[in-house]
Amino acid sequence: MRLKSKIALITGGGKGLGLAIASKFLEEGCFVYIGLRDLSTLTESLQILSLKYPESLQIIQLDITRPEDGKLAFQQIKKEKGKIDILVNNAGIVSYELVPFINFEHFEKMFQTNVVGLMRLSQLASRLMTRQNSGSIVNISSIVSVKGAAGQASYAATKGAVNAFTMSLAKELAPSQVRVNAVAPGMIATERLIEVSEEKFRDKIKDVGLGRMASTEEIANICLFLASDESMYVTGQIISADGSLKI
Ligand code: NAD
Repeated sequence: MRLKSKIALITGGGKGLGLAIASKFLEEGCFVYIGLRDLSTLTESLQILSLKYPESLQIIQLDITRPEDGKLAFQQIKKEKGKIDILVNNAGIVSYELVPFINFEHFEKMFQTNVVGLMRLSQLASRLMTRQNSGSIVNISSIVSVKGAAGQASYAATKGAVNAFTMSLAKELAPSQVRVNAVAPGMIATERLIEVSEEKFRDKIKDVGLGRMASTEEIANICLFLASDESMYVTGQIISADGSLKI
């Protein structure tokens, strides 16, 4: 029960990595708010999880690109729980396009989501956390932010911004005992990637030293470490987890 009596908000927790992080945190005794972009799209897995944890899981409307949603989410958490211990900025969108073909309309949407949305929620969390003199913010970055990837320049640019923001915010918040870290995964076996992977990523797996994608649970375990008091002296770090990517 490493997160006993902690309160967490996880964005984009309806599926994929976000759902795995929520599940892991719930197992560890945390009260979890899952932010969903659209409440009408509740996945079956999320429904099962909420039946399993009726007392400690709450699903809330939170499109991270809508400032009003963020404000309301934090107001609700403050009102109901009086504090927030953990924010996991997981929600994100991806793109695969070579630089000559970058669609800047999509890039702007991706930037608004992966960077601006994440910054806005971190700002709201930091206001509460600094008053509490405690808290942990975990940002989901990507290994492409540090290693680069052909065909992912625009996505990598957004995640590079996440890293820079993480390190800077960590410095600002350290005096208030609030920690900020990022996890930079390589390929994770989420539904989204598995669907594409059969065709597109079979070759890519050859570039992974460990010879396989990460499971969502393996990445969720890193988030658990960063969210819990076990990492009390860790802040401003970008933790790579790419299974020894050769490229
Ligand atoms: P996914 O598409 O399964 O999940 C992303 C989630 O974010 C979805 O639930 C989606 O609804 C949500 N989301 C998107 N825009 C949103 C918005 N405006 N407001 C609220 N929610 C929004 O993808 P995933 O693989 O689970 O990705 C989770 C995170 O992990 C992302 O930040 C992604 O960049 C990162 N990541 C994934 C991989 C991978 O291989 N899957 C690798 C490295 C990093």
